[in-house]
Amino acid sequence: MRVGTPTEIKNHEYRVGLTPESVRELSAHGHDVLVQSGAGLGIGADDAEYVAAGATIAETAAEIFEKCDMVVKVKEPQAVERAMLREGQILFTYLHLAPDPEQTADLVQSKATCIAYETVTGTGGLPLLKPMSQVAGRMSIQAGATALEKAHGGRGILLGGVPGVSPGKVTVIGGGVVGFNAAQMAAGLGADVTILDRNPDVLESLGHYFEARAKTRFSNKANLAECVADADLVIGAVLIPGAEAPKLVSREMLSTMRPGSVLVDVAIDQGGCFETSKATTHQDPTYVVDDIVHYCVANMPGAVSRTSTYALNNVTLPHALQIANKGWEAALRDDAHLAEGLNVWNGHVTYQAVADDLGYDY
Ligand code: NAD
Repeated sequence: MRVGTPTEIKNHEYRVGLTPESVRELSAHGHDVLVQSGAGLGIGADDAEYVAAGATIAETAAEIFEKCDMVVKVKEPQAVERAMLREGQILFTYLHLAPDPEQTADLVQSKATCIAYETVTGTGGLPLLKPMSQVAGRMSIQAGATALEKAHGGRGILLGGVPGVSPGKVTVIGGGVVGFNAAQMAAGLGADVTILDRNPDVLESLGHYFEARAKTRFSNKANLAECVADADLVIGAVLIPGAEAPKLVSREMLSTMRPGSVLVDVAIDQGGCFETSKATTHQDPTYVVDDIVHYCVANMPGAVSRTSTYALNNVTLPHALQIANKGWEAALRDDAHLAEGLNVWNGHVTYQAVADDLGYDY
């Protein structure tokens, strides 16, 4: 099969669909790989690295879309990319169609076969989303630690403390993938960590993992209020699948916190779990409300494009290989989890939740 990866063109997107290592795997399986010139620069991989891995360099995205049977990307195709998709072509990337009627209409019209990373399932959870939650969870602590510095508006706290001085207090709300990874980093720095969740099984497994390195509390109003008031850094990491994030920290609660404390709302991509959250960007990541510093970047993994691209390729490449080796129909027939990824095919929406939300026949 001929597989292609164009340069990502969404604003400030530095990741790339295929790493040179992934190109090498596809080439070793006998596939032709086309990579747009410069596509890997955001992860520090130049054209020569891709050529050494077996790729052919294409000057333009148009060449990729014209010549390739499958296009592997990171972000949803932008309007100019959608216009280049053609009937029967396979698109393998994040799509997030439900809130995006315009994109959905274009994909339907293209008659391409569109397989979305975010709806591919696995044994428990969504394995092609998980690495980005791992990245965001881990980053949330370094973002919070930076915001706690005086020059960034924080109260001047070093999370790990030093011998003779107490460490900073970190409260993590939600102990799923983001929360677990945040707690791992905070505990690793030597901070005083408390994780709240409302799922007893999650609390139990966190308890087993962290033992004395982190405390766990059941997430109810009273415990939340106490842990937020006591924290130097609060990480918002809750998720109620398919729903907007619940507003767990009200504006009123900010007045119970020490001035210069920091809130990092990782759940901002689902609307945020603090009442005072509004989405920010990597260029201007923080703002202050009632003396509390807020960090609410909606695409945190984009800042660590190299790590994020490698983490993403670790989970997408096995599927891309199966599709390239067998053709998409056989690959999806043989793997029910991958079949869940099919969102649009031959002019039809093939994913029920998207069809229901946007009024397509299913
Ligand atoms: P997850 O499903 O693994 O974990 C969510 C946890 O929240 C679950 O353990 C659940 O029990 C818990 N929870 C639900 N309601 C709660 C409540 N009231 N109190 C305490 N805990 C509660 O989800 P995840 O992968 O960790 O993702 C968390 C959020 O981070 C999602 O909104 C996700 O979209 C977002 N995210 C954001 C970025 C970013 O760049 N900002 C990147 C990746 C993920």
